Amino acid sequence: MAIIVHKERESTGTSIPNTHFPSKITMVIIATFNKFITKSLLSGNVFTHLAPKGCRNCPYEGMMHRHGFYTRSVITCLQYFEIYVPRFICPKCGKTYSKLPCFLIPYYRYSYDFILASLYYLFVLKLPACKIPSIFNETNPHCYISLQSILLFKKRFLKDMHKINNVFTYYNDFYYSMDLSQLSLCQAASAIILKIVKFDLVHNFNTEYFKNTSDHLFCK
Ligand SMILES: [Zn+2]
Repeated sequence: MAIIVHKERESTGTSIPNTHFPSKITMVIIATFNKFITKSLLSGNVFTHLAPKGCRNCPYEGMMHRHGFYTRSVITCLQYFEIYVPRFICPKCGKTYSKLPCFLIPYYRYSYDFILASLYYLFVLKLPACKIPSIFNETNPHCYISLQSILLFKKRFLKDMHKINNVFTYYNDFYYSMDLSQLSLCQAASAIILKIVKFDLVHNFNTEYFKNTSDHLFCK
């Protein structure tokens, strides 16, 4: 399980002593317990019963305590949802955690699959960026995707393309030679996206990237 650090969203008002580590930051955990969006969302309490164990900020090794939740919108290629994201707190040091399902990327309303599909249209199918919003709007009229969002996905992917490619070195089945220097930018992007799609048949690249880099996909 990997974690990243981000600024606290808002205080829940819980008065747990926080004498040793007074900083107001929350660690985000991406959970790997359920790969399938529909199954996760329909199972209702799937986010409530798996508290993280062990604190990354202090020696505490027990279970985190529940610490409320926040709502988060989720936009997939086909649907729009509101889900509850649980928060947890370390009873020893007061560090807070939030736990996202693996079909979400921190700070993105659009699901991992949605963003990957955008990049697939752009780099593998080589569609003009301006054509892509209308494709999504046809399958999900509530997605409200804009050209600016598509271009943001593109920009963030290209920024981290080499870092993304390096993650494959941790997996024997996917650690085959792919020298990006021999490819044009678009050829390299296409090759990596195809590799991610293949990887996702047996793993979940979103969480594996998180585990191996201690950062989330498409961060600023
Ligand atoms: Zn702690």
